[in-house]
Amino acid sequence: MKIPYARQSISDADVLAVTEVLRSDWLTQGPAVVRFEKAVADYCGARHAVAVNSGTSALHIACLAAGLGPGDSLWTSPNTFVASANCALYCGASVGFVDVDSRTGNLSPEDLERRLGRASRGSLPKVILPVHFAGHPCDMDRIAGIAGKYGAILIEDACHALGARYRGEPVGSGRYASMTVFSFHPVKVATTGEGGVVVTNSPALFERLALLRSHGITRDPARMQGPPHGPWYYEQIDMGFNYRLTDIQAALGESQLGRVDAFVARRRFLAARYDDLLAGLPLILPGRHPDVLPAWHLYVVRLDPARTGKNRRRVFEAMRSEGIGVNVHYIPVHTQPVYRERGFRNGDFPAAEAFYEHAISIPLFPDLTEGAQDVVVDALRRALA
Ligand SMILES: *Cc1c(COP(=O)(O)O)cnc(C)c1O
Repeated sequence: MKIPYARQSISDADVLAVTEVLRSDWLTQGPAVVRFEKAVADYCGARHAVAVNSGTSALHIACLAAGLGPGDSLWTSPNTFVASANCALYCGASVGFVDVDSRTGNLSPEDLERRLGRASRGSLPKVILPVHFAGHPCDMDRIAGIAGKYGAILIEDACHALGARYRGEPVGSGRYASMTVFSFHPVKVATTGEGGVVVTNSPALFERLALLRSHGITRDPARMQGPPHGPWYYEQIDMGFNYRLTDIQAALGESQLGRVDAFVARRRFLAARYDDLLAGLPLILPGRHPDVLPAWHLYVVRLDPARTGKNRRRVFEAMRSEGIGVNVHYIPVHTQPVYRERGFRNGDFPAAEAFYEHAISIPLFPDLTEGAQDVVVDALRRALA
């Protein structure tokens, strides 16, 4: 039996939604994108949503909309996918990192405060981008308090956290961050094949995001420098991109969004079941803050060096050789060659490095059966024996 670490769940209704678009007049960004954006905004309790062709594009335009540019810096967590940091480099800005809380793998408010306190005026970050690792929301109340004190703009990387809640409210509501970014890659909570969304409550940010997504071009005479030459006329008023999502993808996204609560409920059930089945093994199980309901994008166990001499690589390879699609999240971003070239070194962020050294992500997705989950647990038990 082969079991992947993650997999999309596609229903007949999802297939029908996509084929309806294929028979319609619009394939690229059109009415289905508008419906998808409204569905995401409504789901999060946010005022506006802008859909784009990936989570990475969403991070890029969110940074641009925040005004991030040369001479500025963005601080994020090293325990994330490279896209969370690359978005700053795309804007010509520099990147700084903040070490993680070793219980959750999330950006540590204590380390953030320490580093901000030590930073000179000119090196303070314009943007702080916390990542809700594995779908477990960061301590946003504290992070927002600290960011506010230093005048930084908060953008949440919620690529793992669609459907998560923090203090009873959905991630993306905009209570703490100016913008929240979601990914709709197939391994994430819900999918459009490839896709991303930025949600915000700010009409000005919304306008800027929508412009950046499509070449910086407007057809609104009120925003043009001169009078339109005729009904065909448009003006490019900003430097934008073609980051549009297709209606084909948006139809899938809208249909999937109706299933997010069921997806997350199933992930929570399976995560709780892993907690029970793995108790007693020499593992550190995912930590949980009482204020949150995680979306459980990932279930990351760590070998506990105090209780086992087993090597992570051996355990990983033993699982893979039994057809279990384990994975590792994440190689700390600052240790990647592109970031080493910018002066980062091993040892800079010890908690993120220690997290990485012992972590293994085991299969978790809505269609994982309890029988398959038992197979994963047995293989892990044998690998640790
Ligand atoms: C997946 C992911 C991204 C990028 O999303 P894509 O849709 O794959 O471009 C960014 N940040 C994090 C934390 C992610 O997991």
